[in-house]
Amino acid sequence: MRIVSLAGGIGGARFLRGLRAAAPSAEITVIGNTGDDITLFGLRVCPDLDTVMYTLGGGINEEQGWGREKETHVVKEELAAYGVEPQWFGLGDRDFATHIVRSQMLEAGFPLSQITEALCARWQPGVRLLPMSDDRCETHVVITDDRGRRAVHFQEWWVRLRASIPAESIALIGAETAKPAPGVLEAIEEADVVILPPSNPVVSIGTILQIPGIRDALLPKTVVGVSPIIGGAPVRGMADACLTAIGVETSAQAVLDLYGADLINGWLVAEEDAEVSLDGVVVQARPLLMHDPDSTRAIAEATLTLANSLNP
Ligand code: GDP
Ligand code: CA
Repeated sequence: MRIVSLAGGIGGARFLRGLRAAAPSAEITVIGNTGDDITLFGLRVCPDLDTVMYTLGGGINEEQGWGREKETHVVKEELAAYGVEPQWFGLGDRDFATHIVRSQMLEAGFPLSQITEALCARWQPGVRLLPMSDDRCETHVVITDDRGRRAVHFQEWWVRLRASIPAESIALIGAETAKPAPGVLEAIEEADVVILPPSNPVVSIGTILQIPGIRDALLPKTVVGVSPIIGGAPVRGMADACLTAIGVETSAQAVLDLYGADLINGWLVAEEDAEVSLDGVVVQARPLLMHDPDSTRAIAEATLTLANSLNP
């Protein structure tokens, strides 16, 4: 079986670990969000691709959900001693090495898709990990603070401000001219099943869907999604702040409506959201908390069972 899954960071990566366990013989292609990417200290950082790579490769800091295990922070401290900004983005020493390799390869002219493949040669994530695009596009957020109304990089709003200032709008800069990375449209075309994991519907999945050609390629496929919203709140993090910014309620129903019945064929919700419905979509209620490997695998199994039941 060929499976394509879109993915953001923590929610996507954890789900993918369950998916790999649920379908050990499947060929899984992951289309990763790169809207969170940022250049820091001259280095290109791809937080969501790295979260997927480290999680599936066994190098993730499990408690934190991102970054490397057994991490140290000497470089960060030394940069701070020079007064170099930003100091609000946590990069550990082991993680720095990944960004150095990536940046060196970018400088040498390699596209992000090939660099990601090279990094994955070390981590052996057991899936094919593709960036949504080789073209640089970054999510920016319009806020009003003591410096007035301005757009800041998504990471500044999310990490430095903890989404505490309302986002007036969210935009993926560069989306109009970005092309899907090599292999993305082909993988979708060949997929038996496409999965939208419980990733942020606005700044992870929504971002990937904005790359011209990707949403259209998904429309004829069997697409099953897992709600990241349970009982009116995100399970972890601040996805509600992103939904509010685009005028969407924080509910499993509203996220389904946002994706739309033209895209989604099956939708898994938590048991407390069992009343969710949309014409043309098969909705099933299941326990959706990814507590541990077993519960996560069960969610992935339910996703595949639903997808297979919808496949012609
Ligand atoms: P990020 O890039 O690290 O923010 O991660 P993602 O975009 O992949 O996922 C974030 C989303 O995952 C949040 O909206 C959470 O609500 C959702 N999420 C996290 N843990 C769980 C879980 O155990 N179950 C479900 N259903 N959603 C989860
Ligand atoms: Ca992210």
